[in-house]
Amino acid sequence: MSKSSVLIVEDEQIVSMDIKNNLEHLGYIIAGQADRGEDAVKKAGELRPDLILMDISLKGEMDGIEAASQIRTQFDLPIIFLTAFANQSTLERARQAEPYGYILKPFETHELVIAIEMAVYKHSMERKLRESEERYELAARGANDGLWDWNLKKNEIHYSLRWKAMLGFKEEEIGNNPDEWLKRIHREDRKRVQENIISHINGNTPHFENEYRIKHANGSDVWVLCRGLAVRDAGGNAYRMAGSQTDITTRKMAEDRLAYDSLHDVLTKLPNRALFMDRLEHRLENAKRHPKQLFAILFVDLDRFKVVNDSLGHAVGDQLIVATSQRLQQCVRPGDTVSRLGGDEFAILLNEVSDTADATRVADRILARLVSTSMLDSVKRSTTASIGIALFDVNSTKPDDYLRNADTAMYRAKALGGNRHQIFDSTMHANAVALLEMEGELRHAVEHQEWLVEYQPIVSLADNKILGVEALIRWMHPKRGLIPPLKFINVAEESGLIHPIGEYVLRAACTQAVKWRKTGYPDLWVSVNISGRQFQDQKLVKTIKQILAETGLAPDGLLLEITESVAMKDFNYSVKILKELNALGIHVALDDFGNGYSSLGYLKSFPLKVLKIDKSFIQDIAVNKNSDAITTAIIAIGRTLNLEVVAEGVETINQLEFLKARNCDRIQGFLHSHPMNGNDVFKSVKEM
Ligand code: C2E
Ligand code: MG
Ligand code: MG
Repeated sequence: MSKSSVLIVEDEQIVSMDIKNNLEHLGYIIAGQADRGEDAVKKAGELRPDLILMDISLKGEMDGIEAASQIRTQFDLPIIFLTAFANQSTLERARQAEPYGYILKPFETHELVIAIEMAVYKHSMERKLRESEERYELAARGANDGLWDWNLKKNEIHYSLRWKAMLGFKEEEIGNNPDEWLKRIHREDRKRVQENIISHINGNTPHFENEYRIKHANGSDVWVLCRGLAVRDAGGNAYRMAGSQTDITTRKMAEDRLAYDSLHDVLTKLPNRALFMDRLEHRLENAKRHPKQLFAILFVDLDRFKVVNDSLGHAVGDQLIVATSQRLQQCVRPGDTVSRLGGDEFAILLNEVSDTADATRVADRILARLVSTSMLDSVKRSTTASIGIALFDVNSTKPDDYLRNADTAMYRAKALGGNRHQIFDSTMHANAVALLEMEGELRHAVEHQEWLVEYQPIVSLADNKILGVEALIRWMHPKRGLIPPLKFINVAEESGLIHPIGEYVLRAACTQAVKWRKTGYPDLWVSVNISGRQFQDQKLVKTIKQILAETGLAPDGLLLEITESVAMKDFNYSVKILKELNALGIHVALDDFGNGYSSLGYLKSFPLKVLKIDKSFIQDIAVNKNSDAITTAIIAIGRTLNLEVVAEGVETINQLEFLKARNCDRIQGFLHSHPMNGNDVFKSVKEM
């Protein structure tokens, strides 16, 4: 055991030496001796002994009590008083100096040793405790956590400086009442926190941990994570609980933001598909309990949004979407949900409708609101939408069904020209399914080339001579027999299958034309119908060139038929392609003319060869005065613009006479010949 060093302060020289000898004898180190107060303070500072033995009455001005006080506060050294008197007032003064011992003279050496050992031990324990407290305080400050220590017996809590600062308070502004903490916790969180604390104190949980909002001095809510642990006596009863408080506001805000983002559309801030489906699901749950309360889904899709986006750019497209989202919200009630599913698609959940009319009224309001004024400064034209409506239906239980049904109805609205709404009915679904099925079958047909190309002669009215033939495709369906083009061309267009189909027809027609040209009809041409998507295909000209080269047909043996609406879709593009085709020596006919909306001005700019009068006019000849007038006018336009005019769908002698009287050059129709197999074209004509 290493012995401590001692400073002896004693005015009587003999006593001082006696103590010194005795202690040295026992192995203590005597750091020094002093007989005056001032000297004692000085030596304590210089020598830093483990202990000071202090006589109360000393030489000089300063007595032992005064010296001890100074030493305590300046150097924190333990002091034992040695004194001969023990009167009350001296004792009282001595106590103020917080001595570690008090020995009355005269004393035995072993009494002194016990007092020294106890004082040194007590002092070193105190220092250790203080150091560990300081370390703890430092660590806590480093961790940025607030600390609390709850004496459960007294029901007092010590809150650390940092704990208070976290809530915007200074040390003296918060007392040690547990209420200082609990009363500041957010109302919605308080009960839970209190219950969890009690549960832990009662020993039901291994520790206490909670995230909650607590009021800051500035009135805002701070999100904190609070952790705590109870200290228990031998019987397991908690008498103390302590823990930390961490500010997690930033993390919470990031979490909230993430949660919000994952359920909302970034551009419009509207609920996204996930949130919409969630709300719809809840609404459906609710409907099971209250089946009399109806709801409806509206599927809204802007008409021709792609055109705006492609021609004016995405920034304008985005503007339009935002403007639309605002208008949609203005058309519904607060409990309804307007959501953006993506692109230009919106879904609306009308939480309560009393009947179908209720839902259509909202749809009408939306349509009117969207077109009321231009939504964009840059687009001086208003935007329309197509709306599909699905109403609550006891047979449907899945949210997906509702959205799909509304979507199907929306497509129907679009197919009918847009700017309208349609209510879903089950036949729509059947149609949609049939369409899907057909797409699959069509794919199969492309692979197995289930095609038949028939040819219908186009003859000169004057002499019945066949000038050309139009190639018309049929689908030889393995189960359903021959299917006419109008039943599948649309699906082929939508699915993109029109490309391989169109190529097939071109190749077949060119091959057949070469045959005819070699066997006595050197000037014959073949007409091939080109659909919208084929015409938009950048590779069309290249493909045609290649097929002509492959089959050996001269370009003037091929005539392409495009409809008016296809030609008008993108005027500049059409002119460009038509010029390219013309440069190759390939002619183009405008099919189904009169049906669409081309202005005559545009017609002049197209490098065309042929106008085909739509058969609906021909068939109405002598029935409908308008048709008479239109037919007459188209023949005149053709002559003015130097175009050949073909009347298609001529079925009767009356129609023929009418056309003859107006000097129409060419006709095509059942009167002369039905479409037929390539090999039969000239045979049957000969028979006529
Ligand atoms: P279209 O190009 O206007 O073809 C003329 C249609 O009128 C043909 O119908 C033809 O059979 C029919 N027709 C001809 N004369 C008469 C008549 O006197 N009375 C009546 N009622 N109809 C007559 P089809 O073959 O059913 O073809 C319908 C449409 O399908 C075509 O109209 C064309 O737009 C399209 N189509 C046909 N083949 C193809 C093809 O290979 N590719 C593309 N993209 N479309 C095609
Ligand atoms: Mg045609
Ligand atoms: Mg036609």
